[in-house]
Amino acid sequence: MINYPIEAIRRDFPILSRPVNGRPLVYFDNGATTQTPNQVVKAMEKVYLEINSNIHRGVHTLSNLCTEAFENARKKAAKYVGAASEKEVIFTRGTTEAINLVAHSFGETFLGKDDEIIISAMEHHSNIVPWQLLQKRAGIILRIIPVNDDGSLDMEEFHNLLNPKTKLVAVTHLSNVLGTINPVEKIIEAAHNINVPVLIDGAQAIQHLPVDVQKLDCDFYAFSGHKLYGPTGIGILYGKEKWLNEMVPWQGGGEMIQSVSFEKTTFNELPYKFEAGTPDYVAAIGLGAAMDYVGAIGFDTICEHETELFQYAFDRLSSIEGMQFYGTAEKRTSLISFLIKGIHPFDAGTLLDKMGIAVRTGHHCAQPLMDRFNIPGTIRASFGLYNTKQEVDALVDGLIKVKQLFG
Ligand code: PMP
Repeated sequence: MINYPIEAIRRDFPILSRPVNGRPLVYFDNGATTQTPNQVVKAMEKVYLEINSNIHRGVHTLSNLCTEAFENARKKAAKYVGAASEKEVIFTRGTTEAINLVAHSFGETFLGKDDEIIISAMEHHSNIVPWQLLQKRAGIILRIIPVNDDGSLDMEEFHNLLNPKTKLVAVTHLSNVLGTINPVEKIIEAAHNINVPVLIDGAQAIQHLPVDVQKLDCDFYAFSGHKLYGPTGIGILYGKEKWLNEMVPWQGGGEMIQSVSFEKTTFNELPYKFEAGTPDYVAAIGLGAAMDYVGAIGFDTICEHETELFQYAFDRLSSIEGMQFYGTAEKRTSLISFLIKGIHPFDAGTLLDKMGIAVRTGHHCAQPLMDRFNIPGTIRASFGLYNTKQEVDALVDGLIKVKQLFG
C-alpha cells in the first residue's frame, strides 16, 4: 500500500461528489475524458476575470500578461514531455488535430504516390482516417501491423512491413481499447535504422506513463489536454525541429506569417508557423495548470496508485463468472475492456449508469479492432488518479446485479 492522499485529491474534483441517478458517482470513463480539478478551473477563471486579452498582438499590459501566461504554458508542456525546445511544442485542439496536422504538412512536404505509412490494427480512428484522406490526396499506401490474440502488436510482422518505401510509422503508445502498452522504443529504433520517422499517438499514455520524447527519440508525439485533467479543446503536437522546419504550414491566417503581400507571403518561425489564428489561450493556460497539478502530486506516485488499482480491478473483475476480457498482454495498464456472456454491452452500460457507475460501451472509435476480435463493442472501465478500490468494488457489485437482472 502506498501513502496516497486520495481524500485530498478527490476534494479537488467537486464533480466526484455529485450523485448520479440518486447514487454516488463512480467515474470510470477516464479514457474518454478525465475530470478537471479546482486548480485548473481557477487558472482559467483567472484569465477571464483578470488578464483576458488577445495574445502576441498588443503593446498593452493585459495582452502582455496573457501572452506571458500562454507562453509559460508552452514551457510547462515542453518540460512535461522533455522536449529539447519550446519551438517543438505546438498547441492544437487535441490529439486528432495534431495527427491531422502531421498528415497534411508532413504529407504535403514529404509524401507522394506509393510511399508507405505503417499504422496498426489497434489505432483510434483519429490515427487511421487522416492517413486514409492522405491516401486519397497523395496516393500513399497504408500498411497495417496486425494485433495478436492477447492484444499485443505482432512485432514480427511490423519488422516485415518496414521496407525502403516506408516513409512514416504512426502508432499508439497505449491502446484505448486493450490497455496494451506498445513497445514504442523498439518500433522507433527499428524505423530509425532505415531513417523512417515515427509519430506516437499519446492520447492515452500521457496521463498514465512517463513520457520523455527525447529519450523515446520519437519524431512526433500527440496528446489531448482533456485526458490529462486539463480542459477540452486543447492539445499538443510535439515535433522534432528538423521536421517542423521543413514541413509546409497546414492552415493559413494571422499569427503564422512573417509578412503578407499579394506577391509573396513568408511564414513565421516555429512554433507559430503551425498556429494560425487566435489559439485557445485560456485552455492552453488551463493545460499548464493541469500539468502543475499532476506534477505536485508526483507522476511516479500517481503511476504507483494506478498500477495497484488496475491490478486490484483486474483480479476482482476476473472473479465474476462469464467475463471475457479483451487485452491480456503482459504490458498493459489504465483500463479494462470486457464483455459479459449473453449481455449486450449497451444494456450493461445503461444499467450500470442507473447505479451511478459511468463506463464506456461501444467500439471506442476503433472499429477495425472490433472487426479483428469479431465483436460489436466492449464495456470499458478506465481509471484515473482519483479512483479508489471501493469504486472498483461498486463496479463489481454492479456487474453482479446486471448479471442477475439478465438471469
Ligand atoms: N487516440 C487515442 C488512442 C484516443 O484514445 C483518443 C481519444 N479517445 C484520440 C486519439 C483522440 O483524442 P481527441 O478526441 O481528444 O482528439
